[in-house]
Amino acid sequence: MKIKLYIITIGLFFSGCSDFLEIDPPYTQDAENFFERQEDYERALVGAYDLLQGSFLNIWIGEIASDNAIAGGESVTDTEGLHEIENMSHDAVNNELRSIWRWNYAGLTRANYILEFKDKIDFEGKDQIIAECQFLRAYYYFQLVKFFGDVPLILDKRLGAEEAKEIEEDKSSLDGIISELNTKKDSLNAKMQEVSEEQNALKSERDSVAQNIDSDTMSKYAEIYEARKGLVVAEILDNSCEGCGAMVPPQSINEALSQNIVFCGNCSRFLFKSEN
Ligand SMILES: [Zn+2]
Repeated sequence: MKIKLYIITIGLFFSGCSDFLEIDPPYTQDAENFFERQEDYERALVGAYDLLQGSFLNIWIGEIASDNAIAGGESVTDTEGLHEIENMSHDAVNNELRSIWRWNYAGLTRANYILEFKDKIDFEGKDQIIAECQFLRAYYYFQLVKFFGDVPLILDKRLGAEEAKEIEEDKSSLDGIISELNTKKDSLNAKMQEVSEEQNALKSERDSVAQNIDSDTMSKYAEIYEARKGLVVAEILDNSCEGCGAMVPPQSINEALSQNIVFCGNCSRFLFKSEN
């Protein structure tokens, strides 16, 4: 008897399944072949509404975090996350808050899924379905922003809760860079303020000096300023013009030493000579 059973078992094993199984099933349902009929849109919309069921948790948490209600339950280990919220001792690991994150992301992903295929077919009443989707997506985002602050707004893809978490983590590293840049910006602004004060002081000093200079000299100054890109005055160093390197004749050097106005014969700059 035993031997017979063995033979039957081995026989079944080797006869294989490929004769009975269809490797390519005749019908599959996936994102690409859905949304062929009005009914598909309606079913998907029901799916997007479905996550509203989880909205009781938003209210629970809000009430328990306030003084309006206590966490309740059978013991402190019953919905521990709610007890933590009541005591304000919750941190990043909290089951109830995680559910809010996941459920609302599931809802807005379902809404995004429909919106992704909103132009696939046309039928009467489609506009209303699309409008309801957009409302639901906004609602789920509103809940997320209420609980978690500035979450990334993704409108053009189906985004899972895990992927959203990664984006959020990337964003917080960007936040670090932004705050570092802001600190640098502040110190640059302070520096600019300092430079601008210095510039104003120099400008008023220049204006008071310019008052005592005759208009011919001032217009000559303006002319050289224009021609020599702001470098109007050059020192005589080793008997040469510091500006262009041309030799300065001894007489001009003496004139410069006597505080008379002297120009470089080559570049026309005003020349001066230090006493030593
Ligand atoms: Zn010169």
